This record gives sequence, structure tokens and C-alpha cells, in this order.
Amino acid sequence: TQNDKPTKEIIYRSKLPDIYVPDHLPLHSYCFENLTKFASRPCLINGKTGQIHTYADVDRISREVAIGLHGKLGVRHGHVIMILLPNTPEFVFAFLAASRLGAMTTTANPFYTPAEIQKQAKASKTRVIITLACYVDKVSDFARESGIKIVCIDSVPIQDPNEDNNKTYMHFSELVVTESESDSAELTRLESEIEADDVVALPYSSGTTGLPKGVMLTHRGLVTSVAQQVDGENPNLYFHEEDVLLCVLPLFHIYSLNSVLLCGLRVGAAILIMQKFEIGAFLELIQRWKVSTLPLVPPIVLALAKSEVVDEYDLSSVRVVMSGAAPLGKELEDTVRAKFPNAKLGQGYGMTEAGPVLSMCLAFAKEPFDIKSGSCGTVVRNAEMKIVDPETESSLPRNQPGEICIRGSQIMKGYLNDPEATSRTIDKDGWLHTGDIGYIDDNDELFIVDRLKELIKYKGFQVAPAELEALLINHLNISDAAVVPMKDDAAGEVPVAFVIRSNGSEISEDEIKQYISKQVVFYKRINRVFFVDSIPKAPSGKILRKDLKAKLAAG
Ligand code: AMP
Repeated sequence: TQNDKPTKEIIYRSKLPDIYVPDHLPLHSYCFENLTKFASRPCLINGKTGQIHTYADVDRISREVAIGLHGKLGVRHGHVIMILLPNTPEFVFAFLAASRLGAMTTTANPFYTPAEIQKQAKASKTRVIITLACYVDKVSDFARESGIKIVCIDSVPIQDPNEDNNKTYMHFSELVVTESESDSAELTRLESEIEADDVVALPYSSGTTGLPKGVMLTHRGLVTSVAQQVDGENPNLYFHEEDVLLCVLPLFHIYSLNSVLLCGLRVGAAILIMQKFEIGAFLELIQRWKVSTLPLVPPIVLALAKSEVVDEYDLSSVRVVMSGAAPLGKELEDTVRAKFPNAKLGQGYGMTEAGPVLSMCLAFAKEPFDIKSGSCGTVVRNAEMKIVDPETESSLPRNQPGEICIRGSQIMKGYLNDPEATSRTIDKDGWLHTGDIGYIDDNDELFIVDRLKELIKYKGFQVAPAELEALLINHLNISDAAVVPMKDDAAGEVPVAFVIRSNGSEISEDEIKQYISKQVVFYKRINRVFFVDSIPKAPSGKILRKDLKAKLAAG
């Protein structure tokens, strides 16, 4: 009742002082604010080809692509483009170009199945898809039906003068339009129309429950988040212009887009682009380009810990190894720390909806603090964190685990076209409820101990149980299903299903696995199927996932 509510909330803040955030600037202007200083420095290094684009190049090309998107494809303020690409320089040009137009970018995993891409393209009202020629077949049917234009960054444009209007796709080079005086004036005009509260990035996330939803991240939100990490006297995350950041995590995930690309651009660092993790090539790149900063996820940290070839390379240039997107075990953290003699290793904690960074290890600060293994860092500056009792919602003191909540201008504006899901996640006082369970210790360090929400994380990738359950229930031979995470050494977690067969059906585990595999990207595949007679549910119909997880744990 009202009277039981505590009168005073317990709120945690950074140990570092708040900073000035230039949150009136559009995201690209903020990232390039110091362009004159960095113009001739390397900005993007293509790990595959060794090609270097300087800051001046990236600024110019992203302007030209903006003109092309605007003039040739009609992209306007508020429109959505989808980037369906692995890490490539064109990803960066297209993202910045869309920002210049006041347009939004929705990012998707290029390994998605046609159905998965189509769902997101439709929900986000995507107008243009930028992709590779090898993925065109996945998108061409529905793109034609819904008038979505396709742009390919590789292979040649189709040269058939008779079929010009039916051409399946346009080549990216056609978008790169040399800037005329009137183009410059038009870009300036378009930029002046961008409001801080306009959405610039639209990644998809299932959040604490249900299906994937469009997460509206605004110019102000992302500027704030980047500033919270790298701006000010003693930033949470000290990158500088001499740094070489290895961008191996996919840019379609907000962790890499924000904490690698945008933070890198803001400080004038060189961003070394790698398309796919492979341990030999990864170590080779570190040695060759004297990489200083390695933003990673636990499975890559694990691969480094287990690899015997690591010792054959000179990794002395590495000064920061950070891990995020999923839990990193304390022992693993310590093993890898020993392999990088000159590096500080620690974790950051993010969630797409939170913009995404909530906390960051203060060993990465310019004037570093001592940290403990296993900690996810300290809440970022200009933000408030509280830990609440999930039952009573009252805020908890130090060392008591509860749901982690965050407030600040870096968090999402809301879910696209879903006010209900938005209000379930961000309460009326502006607190974003993460669905993660953790506590803050006496030294202001955050430790995550459990996940309250449904989300499954396979190597840091999101798997939404509701999405797999919907597919399972769609099968004629399945009358009900529930999907939960199972611990896995390599992936962290894998999805497993509890299934009730329809009357008389003898559908097998393999048949179910294949049925799902055909419809989803590889990491959403179901690892095990357990046939059951009933699925535990609350009177409201909500699946009691905790009971199923307990069943798994009991073996
Ligand atoms: P995503 O929106 O895909 O970034 O997923 C966010 C979720 O990943 C968080 O809500 C956490 O459950 C999990 N996560 C992210 N970083 C960490 C971390 N350092 N330790 C434990 N879990 C994490």
C-alpha cells in the first residue's frame, strides 16, 4: 500500500563528476566535432584489404552517400533504412549518411532468414535495404512486393538498358554523388531540421519479454551515451586519438555500433574493421596494426583463454580488453588477464534499451580506479541507478541483489509503435527496468548475479523465447511449448524447448529441431527438446520459466 512505500529512494551515481553533454548536436556532428584536428588521421582500416579511410574521407563519403540516398532513393527525414551487412566501411558511410538526413537506421543480422528480415523490415517500414549481393535473394521477393529498394555494396550493377526500371538492385557506388554547392546547402538545411529527440538508430530487441521490438535511440540519447563513456577530464572509458580499436563485434549490435564505432569516431581513434572472428586472423591483425583496444564478448575471451597460439604473437600493444553483452566468469577473466601483460581487463554492462551502456569498469578511466574481478563496473556519469526488490519495487541498499534500474537521457525513447511495452519497461518516473538482477557493493561496483527476464543470450546474441514458442505452437503436432536457456560452455546459453505433443502425434526431437532451423538464424536453433505432459503456468497464463530452469538444473 501507499504507506509501505519508502519515502526516500536509494540512488547510486558514478564516482566521477557529471560532465557537460552537447546533446543539442545531431549524432554525426557530435562525432565529427573535432574533425579539423583529426582530418588526416586514419579513421577506418579495412582489416581484409588494408585500405585506409581518413577522417576527412569518412566525413566526405558519408555526405556524398547522404546526397545519393536523398536524391536517388528519396530518403527523407524520419524514413528508415536497413543496414543488412557484416562489418564493412560502407556500413559506417550508410549509417552516418542516414543520420545526416534525419533518417533512421535499423540494423539486422545478415545471417537472418528471409522471414526474420522481412518481419523487421515490415515493422520498421524500411524503404531501402543496404546489403551484399549474396543476400539479395533473401530480400528481393518481399522488397519487390513492398517497394523497398535494394542497394548492394559489392558486385557490379546490372547493365540492361531495357530493364532499367526493373533492376533488382542499385550499386552502392551509384549513391556516392560528388557534392555540388546546392547539395551542400541542401544538407545544411536538412541537418537544421534534425531535433535532438529524433530517432537515429532503431535496433531490434525483445527486452524483458515477448517478441523483438524496435528500440528508438535518439540523437540526444546516443550523444549522451557516447559522452558518458569518452568525454570529460577522466572519462569512464579512456580512448584517445592514438588508439587502434579492433572492431570485430558486429556493428549491427548496438554494443559495437556505440562503444566501438561512435566512441572511436568521437575521440579520433583508428577503427580496424574485421568481418568475422577467426583466432589466427584476429591475432595477426592485433600484431600488424598494433591494436590497443579490444572490445570483446565472453565467447571470444574464452577462445583467447583456450588458445595455445596466443603466445606466438606480439600482443604488447593491447592496453584495454573489455568484455560485455553477456556474463564473464571470474576465473576466465583472470586467465585472460595473464595473457595480456600490458592490458587492463574489465567488463561493461549494456542493454540495447538503455542506450546501451549502463556501467563501465573504472580501470579503463584515464585516472583508473582499482576494480574487482567479476564486476560489471560503475554506473556511467550523468545517470542514476537503483536496485529494486522485484516484488515490492522498493529500492535496496548496497550488497542486496535486486532488479537493476537506470535513469538518464541516454535511455531509449521507447519501443516503436508499442506504448504498452514501453510503459512496462520505462516507468512513470523515467526508470528503465532491465530485468537483470544485481547488487552494488561498498565500492560502487555493480555485480550481475541473475537474469529475471526471459531473454536467452547465445554468445551475446539475443534469442527471444516468445519467438521460438510462437513457431513451435504453429506446428500441427505440437499443442504447447516453452523455451528456456540451458547453460553451455561455449555459447554461455542455448535455447531448449519443453514440448507437449498434440494428441496422437509422435513427432521426434530431430523433426522439431529441423522445423525450427529452417526458420531462424543459426543461434536461435533449439539445442534440446524435452517432451512433457504439461507446462507450468501461473493463473494468468504466464509460463513459469523459473520452474523449467530448475528442472533443467536438477538434470
Ligand atoms: P542486448 O540488449 O542484446 O545488449 O542484451 C542485454 C542483456 O545482456 C542485458 O540485459 C544482460 O542480461 C546481458 N548483459 C550485457 N552485458 C552483460 C555483462 N557484462 N554481464 C552480464 N550480463 C550482461
